[in-house]
Amino acid sequence: QNSDKPAYLAHLNPAQLEAAEALDGAVLILAGAGTGKTATLTARLAHLIATRRAWPNQILAVTFTNKAAREMKERVAQITNGAVDNMPWLGTFHSVCARMLRRHAELVGLQNNFTIIDTDDQLRLLKQLMEAERIDVKRWPARQMAGLIDKWKNKGLTPDLIDAADAEGFADGKAPKLYADYQARLRAVNACDFGDLLLHMLTIFKKHGDVLEEWRKRFRYVLVDEYQDTNASQYEWLKLLAAPENNICCVGDDDQSIYSWRGADVTNILRFERDFPGAKIVRLEQNYRSTGHILAAASGVIANNSGRLGKTLWTEAGDGEKVRVLGVWDGPEEARRVGEEIENHISKGGSLNDIAILVRAQHQTREFEERFISIGIDYQIIGGFRFYERAEIRDAIAYLRLVNQPADDLAFDRVVNQPKRGLGDKAVATIHQYARAADLPLLLAAAQMLDSDELQARARNSLGRFVADIARWRGKIAELSPSELMQLIVEEAGYTAMLQADKSAEAQGRLENLSELARAMEEYDTLESFLEHVSLVMDTDRDADGERVTIMTIHAAKGLEFPIVFCAGWEEGLFPSQRSLDEGGQASLEEERRLAYVAITRARQKAHILHAANRRIYGQWTSSIPSRFVDELPEEHIESDATMSGGESLWRAQFSAQDDPFAHVARPASRGPGFQRAVAQKAAASTRTRSAGPADVKSSAVSLGNKGRDDLTLGM
Ligand code: ATP
Ligand code: MG
Repeated sequence: QNSDKPAYLAHLNPAQLEAAEALDGAVLILAGAGTGKTATLTARLAHLIATRRAWPNQILAVTFTNKAAREMKERVAQITNGAVDNMPWLGTFHSVCARMLRRHAELVGLQNNFTIIDTDDQLRLLKQLMEAERIDVKRWPARQMAGLIDKWKNKGLTPDLIDAADAEGFADGKAPKLYADYQARLRAVNACDFGDLLLHMLTIFKKHGDVLEEWRKRFRYVLVDEYQDTNASQYEWLKLLAAPENNICCVGDDDQSIYSWRGADVTNILRFERDFPGAKIVRLEQNYRSTGHILAAASGVIANNSGRLGKTLWTEAGDGEKVRVLGVWDGPEEARRVGEEIENHISKGGSLNDIAILVRAQHQTREFEERFISIGIDYQIIGGFRFYERAEIRDAIAYLRLVNQPADDLAFDRVVNQPKRGLGDKAVATIHQYARAADLPLLLAAAQMLDSDELQARARNSLGRFVADIARWRGKIAELSPSELMQLIVEEAGYTAMLQADKSAEAQGRLENLSELARAMEEYDTLESFLEHVSLVMDTDRDADGERVTIMTIHAAKGLEFPIVFCAGWEEGLFPSQRSLDEGGQASLEEERRLAYVAITRARQKAHILHAANRRIYGQWTSSIPSRFVDELPEEHIESDATMSGGESLWRAQFSAQDDPFAHVARPASRGPGFQRAVAQKAAASTRTRSAGPADVKSSAVSLGNKGRDDLTLGM
């Protein structure tokens, strides 16, 4: 394409080249998915180094994940033939700020060997402070306070800047004081939390002009990927560092802003031109990732959002295959059909690495995992744990194991103080000693210790309740189904209550995982057979560098691409999520729609969208209707297949109509009324997004469209 250019620029199209070569001043690349924003940013980085505009350590480059940072480093190493193998200031906001803060810790009252605490520590600390203030932590959960603090930190607000109005009436107005106490306490123990990494650097920059000056001199160029997901304090930090030359290049897509729940503020994109006068705005319009139908389907969905900046997107890759919309009977059938498609792909010589399954919520992975294990498809879960490795699932299973087998000491250790029942490390250590001396399993030792005074009265009391609980649950093994028993245990152990008291989205996810576990257990008649299944599932060894399917949430898939993508569970209440429907109004619905756009645009050659007519939620069958996003897919770019083949006919074969508990459930029509509405809307409104469909496909296609990321750096 640009044969007169060095290899690392030669493959760029004119708009990309313009952005990569415009080294001085502010540049904003504002473009849709798959248009090569990240590729252009990387080429620009290479260009800066190759032309000696800056040494690698004079470039600040921020990416959204560590994985993205690693990939960019690898690409630069490749481009420079290994000459550049270290980019110290290429990383996430957190990692870069942590590194900076180590050098200036004393300016915010820390030593440079400060510890970075995690969420658990953060909550424990807050709880102590709240109890000291005599705040009822049942009414005002520590988690909610942590959320407020994060929110303030995301806005760059230190305790002195908080006024009562910001505190949302939390704990009768005590939140600002708690925030101040919390910061003081962290300082006293030489620690900071994630939000502090950036906030402390902002504070330092504002108070110590000389330090800011030093960093401004160092960073001659600033590069930012996934700019649409930066929050206010990140933006301020970037602005401070880029001044006065403002050699800053940000790339982003307003349609892919999916982290507003973490304080990301898409209006940063709109402010860019005002904050950096004379900024060059580059728009990339050619999509190199996906084929025509995929792109058009994604564009059709996102066109339903209001207040977009609007973009043109086209591809030379040809129409490709239509997006396949598949309606299935239930979750297991969904997993089965995906499994079949994967086997099909493999039998034609394809690789498991080509495939990603994208889910909206973590608990959706289980059905796929079990299916893949049973048919021998290797898989990995990105940005999360395998279902049976999640903490709450392991806890529930540990309870079951202990009930089933009182000598299971590992299980005992896991749950004896989970949820917290006042049996701290010291009490547990005493039980261990006693058990060793008496050569007894821990649970038996604990039972014996109830009659001794080895433990303090309080510990003895709660241990007594624990031992009695286990015995009682054990008595129910014959009476209850494994699933019922599990639900009874998490309820009576206070485990569910612990999660319910915790108002975070994460706790919500854990509760969903537990009901998913209950669902999974319904297939087993005896506790033993279920536990055996679990040990087999946990034991599947993974071939470390073999090929595998990737399962992940849409959030984790940002910036990535796969030849084949399965988008699972497109049903109202699952996607868009119930939460977004219940609380958020239009804004959160639009964020869900952006997620739908991100999901579809991960696909290069083939996108499948699945929805099930029935889901078992909290042990109850509920009928679900297809997501409104399914209805919003433009008809000419999809092929629907809602014949619910396998599942329903199997079901019918096994049960007479009389037994059918869903006889009353309306079978989903393949296209709901929403679809008609969408078609009408589409006809009426001329969408700002030029349809990327077949009409736009140029016949003179240069065969670049289907090349993978890696082709970009080949031979450089
Ligand atoms: P997203 O919005 O999803 O982050 P993006 O805009 O960052 O996407 P990239 O991931 O950089 O897009 O590029 C998408 C695909 O297009 C990659 O496979 C990349 O290698 C390829 N690509 C980008 N630019 C070109 C080009 N000029 N010629 C050929 N392929 C290209
Ligand atoms: Mg990208």
